[in-house]
Amino acid sequence: PHGCTYLKPLETQSELPSPHHHVKKEERHSNTRCETILDMIGNTPLVHLKNLSQDYGIKCNLYAKCEYLNAGGSVKDRIGLRMIEEAEKAGQIKPGDYIIEPTSGNTGIGLALTCAVKGYKCIIVMPEKMSKEKNDVLKALGATIIRTPTSAAFDAPNSHISEAQRIKERLNAENPGCAHILDQYTNPYNPIAHYDGTAEEIINQLNGKVDLIVSAAGTGGTICGIARKIKEKCPDCKVIGVDPVGSILALPDQMNEFSGPGFYEVEGIGYDFIPTVLDRFHVDAWFKSIDKESFKLSRQLIKREGILCGGSSGSSTYCAIEAIKKYGLKEGQNAVIILPDSIRNYMTKFLSDEWMVARGFMEAPISDKDPWWTN
Ligand code: PMP
Repeated sequence: PHGCTYLKPLETQSELPSPHHHVKKEERHSNTRCETILDMIGNTPLVHLKNLSQDYGIKCNLYAKCEYLNAGGSVKDRIGLRMIEEAEKAGQIKPGDYIIEPTSGNTGIGLALTCAVKGYKCIIVMPEKMSKEKNDVLKALGATIIRTPTSAAFDAPNSHISEAQRIKERLNAENPGCAHILDQYTNPYNPIAHYDGTAEEIINQLNGKVDLIVSAAGTGGTICGIARKIKEKCPDCKVIGVDPVGSILALPDQMNEFSGPGFYEVEGIGYDFIPTVLDRFHVDAWFKSIDKESFKLSRQLIKREGILCGGSSGSSTYCAIEAIKKYGLKEGQNAVIILPDSIRNYMTKFLSDEWMVARGFMEAPISDKDPWWTN
């Protein structure tokens, strides 16, 4: 019917493409055969954002470090694996023990993934704000999940940090030495994972020429680890930190004054205290991000570049565009944005038009009429 020929069988093998039609793709990964999936943490690609650069009139080369392509879907897989490996090396933990962590979810997923492969029990303590998608992935990985009120201050007895501590003490009272908090907020291997991995990879991917690098901060492990390595190897590179309005990580402190409530929707960035691993003086300049622009830029990364990133990626991209303009980056210079996690964590949040419209982050779509070819 309708002149379609796809149901017709091939008459002869000679109708198959001849050998010269086949293309062998350049091999990019030498490690595609893995002992475990943990081998797929790190060595993430750097992608040139050509369409977005054109949209925003950016002359320099703008690259995205695609941390969402790590095995567990985020930049925090690196520290989940590294903190466990180092605790094993130091003889502090053994399979069968409990690994407990207060987290906004991605460190939890990185830890739970490593725990699944290595045979640890995992307990994740996470504020209510964090998505159901993160919760469900953690559950599937076998973690026990405890939710705490989003409004609890970091040092309140019902915060995710206090709750994790309480669980650890209770378990250790029953069975001494069985429960551990590796503690991303103070563990030196959080920034070291990025000093050794993320930053080293970026410098190699750009043959040592990095002019500007932008990363949003939660614990600050990513930005501080990167900043330390960059300052050693590319001392002229500007390191830009991104902190949401409603958080207090940016410097100078006046930047953190705001008129609205402290709540913001973007997950995984910003805090109401300065984590030990965040040495803010390693950062050359801070930019503040807002929800609306963050989600707009995340959606543009998806639509214009096919980059299936999460919300904090949009925060960094929004601020990167501002920083590139402010510092006047020119043709031939290289700017890098860290994209921490994936849209997988936010399918029912900023990927949904209804969710976006209800929060005033976008106008209601004008028409949802089918395009002419479906009529
Ligand atoms: N973005 C997302 C989505 C995250 O989960 C995190 C980690 N909390 C960050 C950014 C910031 O990373 P870091 O903790 O290394 O500052």
